[in-house]
Amino acid sequence: MTNFTKSIDAYKEAVELMPGGVNSPVRAFKSVGMNPIFIESGKGSKIKDIDGNEYIDYVLSWGPLILGHADDRVIEKLKAVAEKGTSFGASSLLENKLAELVIERVPSIEMVRMVSSGTEATMSALRLARGYTGRDKIVKFEGSYHGHSDSLLIKAGSGVATLGLPDSPGVPENVAKHTITVPFNDIESIRKAFEVYGDDIAAVIAEPVCGNMGVVPPKEGFLQQVREITKQHGSLFILDEVMTGFRVGYHCAQGYFDVEPDITCLAKVIGGGLPVGAFGGKREIMEHIAPAGPVYQAGTLSGNPLAMTAGYETLNALTKEDYKVIEKKIDRLEEGFRQASKKHEIPIQINRVGSMFGIFFSEEPVVNFETAQKSNLDYFSQYYRAMIEEGIYLPPSQFEGLFLSTAHTDEDIEKTVQAIDKAFSKIEK
Ligand code: PMP
Repeated sequence: MTNFTKSIDAYKEAVELMPGGVNSPVRAFKSVGMNPIFIESGKGSKIKDIDGNEYIDYVLSWGPLILGHADDRVIEKLKAVAEKGTSFGASSLLENKLAELVIERVPSIEMVRMVSSGTEATMSALRLARGYTGRDKIVKFEGSYHGHSDSLLIKAGSGVATLGLPDSPGVPENVAKHTITVPFNDIESIRKAFEVYGDDIAAVIAEPVCGNMGVVPPKEGFLQQVREITKQHGSLFILDEVMTGFRVGYHCAQGYFDVEPDITCLAKVIGGGLPVGAFGGKREIMEHIAPAGPVYQAGTLSGNPLAMTAGYETLNALTKEDYKVIEKKIDRLEEGFRQASKKHEIPIQINRVGSMFGIFFSEEPVVNFETAQKSNLDYFSQYYRAMIEEGIYLPPSQFEGLFLSTAHTDEDIEKTVQAIDKAFSKIEK
């Protein structure tokens, strides 16, 4: 059995200091019946905990570290920038550099505003959509997670789904009533929402590939249909690419699916492991943001030099080829999962798009939150704990996907495939 003595002691201390002992709920490992593991360091595809256990990491800080941990190119530049001062709250060339790169790579973005998290990006995008259209209502999908701002914390995925929580107390009814939720991949529900609320809907916000109810791809043509309906009604289409941005592919999910949103939200990979978010879109819409326009949005640390550097160096290092290489590694993982499923007679569903990948312990195809929730959570938590024993660190929730990096080696993947076989063999039915 893996020794977690130091992590267990650290957690005892932490629960007295922070609510639930953590600074973000899913880190508590509650749904898999474990104590949190305290991480000491990471390099490439591996992380080490404070007890000295090493793992192949498929969490990668929940997505940002697409080059793996402490990539030399990123760290070297970060050191040099840090020497010159960590924050000025004033303009710097580093902001122009990252903005230029994002605009070049994301087809629908003509102008971009940097923020410090995904939550800020989506919250600000909503305000912009409301300010721009003069409407209050928004449509979101059940089981999608767009951060923890009031309007978006309704029927949310991610930690809310993992912990099986109802909609959060503290969100005023008067705010919640403006959020309409519909099932993902169900175009008729969207049509109905527009029939009822049409001219009051400021925007539809969607994860192009859901990643917070596990991985759920859009049905063929679904995103394009949503695009069309929003256009007909003078509403905006916001693609929340916080997770999919620069992960699904080189030109994000919108490039992959060839769909053009009005506003795009980014975070995770765009910050390369430092706190960065961004929202951007057509110049005509973005110029409604202060100080160009009246919709207010601001941030003391927005465009922070270290954060801009980590983001720029990460995106700059990525090539189109890198995505193909990651996808090949996922092919092998997929094969490993399929073999283990067959051999040990444990039905699973595999969902993937580009380099987004997830499995569900279910006999039924997973196309939305309702079907995602049919997954066998007991099997998931048994599998999870067995994988940890094998030195494989996965997101501790059925409702999250796996993340790979360019630093994952073929040897890592083979070790993981063997671990999957072993873990499946231990699942008690
Ligand atoms: N949107 C999506 C699609 C996300 O996956 C997340 C975080 N997992 C967020 C928004 C919120 O981002 P952050 O945690 O940086 O606030």
